[in-house]
Amino acid sequence: FSSLDLTEHFIKRIDALDSKINSFITHTSETARAQAQAADEMRAQGDMRPLLGVPMAHKDIFCTQGVLTTCGSKMLHNFVSPYNATIVTNIDKAGMISLGKLNMDEFAMGSDTSSSYYGAVHNPWNLEHVPGGSSGGSASAVAAGFIPLATASDTGGSIRQPASFCGLTGIKPTYGRVSRFGMIAYASSLDQAGSMGRSAKDCAYLLQPMIGHDPRDATSIKHDMPDYIQDINEAEAKAGNSDKPLAGLRIGVAKEYFGEGLDAEVDQLVRAALQQYEDLGATVVEVTITDPEITLATYYMLAPAEASSNLSRFDGVRFGYRCENPKDLIDLYTRSRSEGFGPEVQRRILMGTYALSAGYFDAYYTKAQKIRRIIVKDFDDAFKNCDVIASPTAPTPAYKLSENLDSATMYLGDVYTIGVNLAGLPALSQPVGLTSEGLPVGLQLIGQHWQESELLTTAHLFQ
Ligand code: GLN
Repeated sequence: FSSLDLTEHFIKRIDALDSKINSFITHTSETARAQAQAADEMRAQGDMRPLLGVPMAHKDIFCTQGVLTTCGSKMLHNFVSPYNATIVTNIDKAGMISLGKLNMDEFAMGSDTSSSYYGAVHNPWNLEHVPGGSSGGSASAVAAGFIPLATASDTGGSIRQPASFCGLTGIKPTYGRVSRFGMIAYASSLDQAGSMGRSAKDCAYLLQPMIGHDPRDATSIKHDMPDYIQDINEAEAKAGNSDKPLAGLRIGVAKEYFGEGLDAEVDQLVRAALQQYEDLGATVVEVTITDPEITLATYYMLAPAEASSNLSRFDGVRFGYRCENPKDLIDLYTRSRSEGFGPEVQRRILMGTYALSAGYFDAYYTKAQKIRRIIVKDFDDAFKNCDVIASPTAPTPAYKLSENLDSATMYLGDVYTIGVNLAGLPALSQPVGLTSEGLPVGLQLIGQHWQESELLTTAHLFQ
């Protein structure tokens, strides 16, 4: 079949079913059709790029030239970006076809995609349940079969947790691996873009064009460029017909990741998956990491602090929504920001501004930065005894949208994912089964810096 057939198939499916799921904010069907036709012609002329003509879609946090880029917020409800994020350009260059922009929690702050200005997103496995967040649009669109692959971003779990809630694989690469240029900033020292798909190999395909040093992002790092697909294929060939393809792999398991608050069925499914890993030849070793409650507090100090600074640019003058008929400049700032930002974003700005304010800076911000160093060191120490660390991705399966979680309860759901961002490590979530209610559960694999290939290969050999 042609790229145009494939593109038409997905557009038809989106048109028929997305009214129930709400995964897209913007559709780019017309340009997608034209690009698909062009891709078919290039293919006919012998262009063998693996991703040529393959449909996908971007989380609406990535700037797309000439296309609405809202970040899930009223603040950017009419922002048509004049330029592309580097990853958008790179994915275009790989020949992929973008079907549009995907829904998300406002400014990527949230864990269930209920805070979007464009309405809550539903989980395709059960429409009464949330898809996770903040990349809930990316996860639900892939899980619903609207697109085979999606981009997403992860500041504290926003790729891994929705992948877990929607039965997908999602990878957050090492901090600095993927350019942040053109990715609307939430917490710059934690934000990282990555890919989501049905399998580790699918994630590898999309991640490949995303990685690499970018002179336009000062935090992107020059590093060896792996070929993820080649690495997976080689590992597979090496494993051959062995019934122990993972022999030699040491999986670290920390009791801190199996503590209070972990749902019994999630616990059981993750432990069963670890048993399966052992059956495939891996050994499980005990490791210790920083108490997740401390990690959680550190994250919810630092992320809002950085957010409050990043979001100050949306003042209704230089950037963003502007209120009607302001009385004076203060009224303009106040009302533009009060009307343009939703409640969760305002809460984060308040928390962050408080932590950064003169009298509290040392007590909160500086202290959190010190604890961040300890978290990094604890991971380093743990990796002296293992190759990867495994844990549940989230303490629960997808909950009901009607539960309408208060913020503090929602923050607790990030307990297993945020340490990875504070340490800048790569991690993925892979599906390991369904609960008795038929909801997916994910296992998180954390790697050492730059070891995305090891994670993808391990997850692939497990599947
Ligand atoms: N749920 C976390 C938060 O709200 C993580 C979000 C993210 O990774 N973008 O901050």
